[in-house]
This record gives sequence, C-alpha cells and structure tokens, in this order.
Amino acid sequence: MTKSNKKYSGIWVFIEHFNNKLEPISKELLGKGKELSNITGEKLSGIILGDNIKNLSKDIIAYGADKVYVADHPELKYFRPLPYTHVVSNLVIKHSPKIFILGATTTSNNLASRVAARVDTGLASVCTDYQIGDREYLRKNYKNLLLQIRPDFNGNYLSTIITPNHLPQMATTGPGVFDPLKKDEKRTGKVIDVDVNVPKKDCNLIVKEIVTSDKGSDLVKSKIIISGGRGVEKDPEKGFNLIRDFSRSINASVGASRGAVMAKYIDGSHQVGQTGVSVKPNLYIAAGISGAPQHIIGMKKSDLVLAINTDKNAPIFEYSDYGIVGNLFEWIPKIKAALQKK
Ligand code: FAD
Repeated sequence: MTKSNKKYSGIWVFIEHFNNKLEPISKELLGKGKELSNITGEKLSGIILGDNIKNLSKDIIAYGADKVYVADHPELKYFRPLPYTHVVSNLVIKHSPKIFILGATTTSNNLASRVAARVDTGLASVCTDYQIGDREYLRKNYKNLLLQIRPDFNGNYLSTIITPNHLPQMATTGPGVFDPLKKDEKRTGKVIDVDVNVPKKDCNLIVKEIVTSDKGSDLVKSKIIISGGRGVEKDPEKGFNLIRDFSRSINASVGASRGAVMAKYIDGSHQVGQTGVSVKPNLYIAAGISGAPQHIIGMKKSDLVLAINTDKNAPIFEYSDYGIVGNLFEWIPKIKAALQKK
C-alpha cells in the first residue's frame, strides 16, 4: 500500500458488539487507542458494522473515539466473513488509516487476517502491548511507528514487530489486556454513515441461529478464578469436577491452561494466557499448572496467586504468593472444607 503516495493517518479500532452492547474488548482497545492517539496526535476512530446499531456510536465516543464509521445494514446483522471483509477492506482502502487494531477474538481473528490480505499489509497477532516509537529499518528512519509487542520463541522473548512499508499497521490483542477509559457521556465526536453495498456472491452464507455459551465468558470480570491444568491428567473428569464444585462454593469462575484445553479436558473458552484471555482477579488459584510463560502472561496481574503443584520446582511457584507442594486431588477438597468451616 505504500507503493503509491497515499497519505495515511488516524488510528482505527474495530468495534465488536452483542445484543446492542459494546463487547469489553472494544472498550479496552478504545482505551489503548486513545493512549496512542494522545502520543501521535492523530484522531481515533471506531468502526462498527451491524444492523440497527447506530445508537452504539455515542458509547464508542464516550469510551474515547473521536469519530465513528457506522455500516448499518440488514446484511451485516451477524458477523459473516465475506460481507464484513468486503465492507471493512473498502473502508480501509478509502480512508487509509495508519494504525488499525482489533481484538484477538474469534470474530476479529477471522476478519483481521482477511482484511490484511486484501489491503496488502501485515498483521501482528495476539500482541500484549503497543507503543509508539521511531525505528531505523533498511537504513531509513521511520517516525511514530506502531511498536507491536508480543511474546515469541515459546514465550521466552518479547518481539517488537514493525510494519514500516505496508500500511495500515494492523495488529490484534486478546481480551483483558488493556484497561478501558472511564465512560464519559459528555465527550463528543463525529458519526459517519457508511454506504453499504455488499456483492450478492458474498452473502451465500446464511446465519440461522446464534447459540451463545456463557462458559468461561465471565472470566475477565471474575474476582476469584480457579484454573486447572494438565496436572488433572490421572482423572481429568474428577479433577475438573472438583475444581467446578470448589468454584461454585466460593462463587469463583473456572479457568484452564492450554495444556488442559489441548488435552480436551475442558472447553477452550476457559483458557487463560497468551492465546486465551488475560485476567486480573483478586485471587487466582492454579491447580496442576506448570507456569509456562504463555500462561503467566494471562494471570500475572492477579492480586494474589495460590499454586498447587506436586513439583516443588514448578515455575508457577515463582509467580505465586502462596504455594502448596501437593496433589490437587487431595488439596482442593481440603481447602474447600476449610473455607466452609469458616
Ligand atoms: P504442564 O506443563 O504439563 O504442567 C502440568 C503440571 O501439573 C506440572 O507442573 C506437574 O508437576 C503438575 N501436576 C501433575 N500432577 C499433579 C497433581 N496431581 N496435582 C498437582 N499438580 C500436578 N498455555 C496457556 O496456559 N495459555 C495460553 O494462552 C497459551 N498460549 C500459547 C501460545 C503459544 C504460541 C504456545 C507455543 C504455547 C502456548 N501455551 C499456552 C502452552 C504453554 O506453553 C504450556 O504448554 C501450557 O501452559 C502447559 O499447560 P499445563 O501447565 O497445564 O501443563
């Protein structure tokens, strides 16, 4: 895209919503987008697609956007990859944003990769931070680049990815990583209606029903999380039943490591970590989780961490306030019983 002399400007956030409410990830990205826009001095825009969603513009502005592009059309009622890619790519081509950030969610992962391919730019996925900085690349100095920071090499290093030659600079971040701004109903901004003209050939997929699952969806907001890992492997069903039972008794949510998810002990919506959700509860209990860097990145903001692990050298203990070297199958019922006595 830089092959032409096109002028790129502005920071864009793709807005996800459900049941006529903004998804938390959208508020979080607007918060980070505003921080970036305060540094670069560029306008922050929210891009929203849907049917009958124009009323959400005021919320998008209240959470930090200066502008909102609204594509409101019955064909956009539900996320479908082809119509959404068509509309968003055309918007990018027409308005040339310099930075475009989206959620590392099921919807946006699908959309972001398609849009990036269509507008001929790169995509840094599952970033854990963004900064603005100058960099030299191939003996040229670039100013105000988006530094797209993410763990790499098995989580042992943080990479900083730059995209100086292909714009917009596109990247995704998972839920729970950034903090939203406080809602400010007094903020004002510009709302721009987008002409929607989706080709018929892109509308073959028909959504008949949306089936929602609340499994794990409350993780980001939970005050207490009890997560299970591959340590339940001797009897995964019993292990996660103990965790669920304990969680219910103290009104906690159930989390999991990717080890547990990959082994199919539990649904992926419970996964905490780099490719799951980032959480910051008051109490995080890690049962049978080794503490790989990709897991730690998703729970390290917890106020208090208790780890239960049979291996006294497990890395999770380095990130814990309290540790029990022991078998989770014995210790979870013990802790539950002790708390019930209190
Ligand atoms: P293990 O590493 O196998 O650990 C099991 C632990 O249980 C061990 O420490 C063992 O001592 C202990 N144990 C065994 N039996 C018991 C018992 N009876 N009682 C108590 N303790 C017991 N991982 C994530 O979690 N989240 C992510 O988002 C994530 N994203 C990733 C992204 C990439 C690109 C890559 C490459 C990896 C990612 N991973 C992620 C995987 C990560 O590297 C680890 O493989 C994973 O976290 C390991 O899961 P685990 O701790 O449950 O299993």
